[in-house]
Amino acid sequence: MFFFWGGPFFLLPAYSEDIARGLKDLLPIQKGFGLNIGWISSSEVRERCPGIREDGLLGGMFSPEDGHLSSLKLTGAFHRLAMARGVEFLFKTAVVGFEIDKGKITAVLTDQGKIGCSHVVNAAGAYGKDVSLMVGTDLPVYPDSHEAGVTEPVQRFFLPMLVDIAPDEQSDNYYFYQNAEGQIVFCITPRPQRLGTDRRSTSEFLPMVIPRMLNLYPRLRNLKVRRVWRGLYPMTPDGKPIVGFDREVQGFFHAIGMCGQGLMLGPGLADMIALAIAEGQEDEEVFADLSPYRDFSGEELLK
Ligand SMILES: Cc1cc2nc3c(=O)[nH]c(=O)nc-3n(C[C@H](O)[C@H](O)[C@H](O)COP(=O)(O)OP(=O)(O)OC[C@H]3O[C@@H](n4cnc5c(N)ncnc54)[C@H](O)[C@@H]3O)c2cc1C
Repeated sequence: MFFFWGGPFFLLPAYSEDIARGLKDLLPIQKGFGLNIGWISSSEVRERCPGIREDGLLGGMFSPEDGHLSSLKLTGAFHRLAMARGVEFLFKTAVVGFEIDKGKITAVLTDQGKIGCSHVVNAAGAYGKDVSLMVGTDLPVYPDSHEAGVTEPVQRFFLPMLVDIAPDEQSDNYYFYQNAEGQIVFCITPRPQRLGTDRRSTSEFLPMVIPRMLNLYPRLRNLKVRRVWRGLYPMTPDGKPIVGFDREVQGFFHAIGMCGQGLMLGPGLADMIALAIAEGQEDEEVFADLSPYRDFSGEELLK
């Protein structure tokens, strides 16, 4: 099996009336999209997360059909499956420009040479803006770094992925879950955002996230942290990806700005992009919503 699926289930506990109301107000919208999601009582939260802080607990938003996967194993699996279908990968090869003839893309220029083509998909993630600028299109994607960590493994003691959206002085939400191996994986959204492409781990991360985790879940206190890392969210102003053909350069397709949801959205979007390029079929609603030419003034309701 390439990856594990089926839990953890998102659980957003609420310790203030404001947060509880905000979460409950979102439920009709989420249910409207067919999501199996609901509100559970404080005793059910305690049952699902034995040892969670009890004082002030008002209940939580619970989404019982979520799952998780290993991004490392997933990309390895995609790589193997794509090679079996005849895809060729060129590693350590940087795209440095494109050739355009009469408004049509004709070649990719790399630091290893030129590759002729009729279509290009810009899927450069946090560097998507740099690549789109190579064809003269300026798209609002900016790298925003997030740090994560993983502990030693212990016997399973809770199943949900706990997401605490109450902000403190230095950070917004943070979340953690216990993976299939028993390790706790955790991550936090610092405030202000850490913009840029620096991926070195910082000395700020653990002092920022650990006290918050222990306050919510004191049972974690004897676990040892094994490893930390820092990666990039390719952010957009409205928190939605940028997906669609370039209007000026025929054959050039943008698939960037996946924000903090690229693994969840990637496979579905890739299917739609393949259909759009190979068959000329575009899902009008999705492509209008994610258009590179939208006004970007929307806002995420829940981060
Ligand atoms: C700590 C953390 C936790 C996250 N958790 C989740 C989660 O729970 N769920 C979720 O869905 N998402 C999550 N994300 C976000 C997710 O990782 C991203 O949205 C996703 O990786 C973006 O995918 P992408 O293919 O667009 O870009 P990337 O995965 O960044 O791939 C872009 C590729 O383009 C290459 N590239 C860039 N420029 C060039 C160039 N000039 N020439 C050649 N190659 C180039 C890069 O080297 C890279 O390999 C998380 C991210 C972080 C950092």
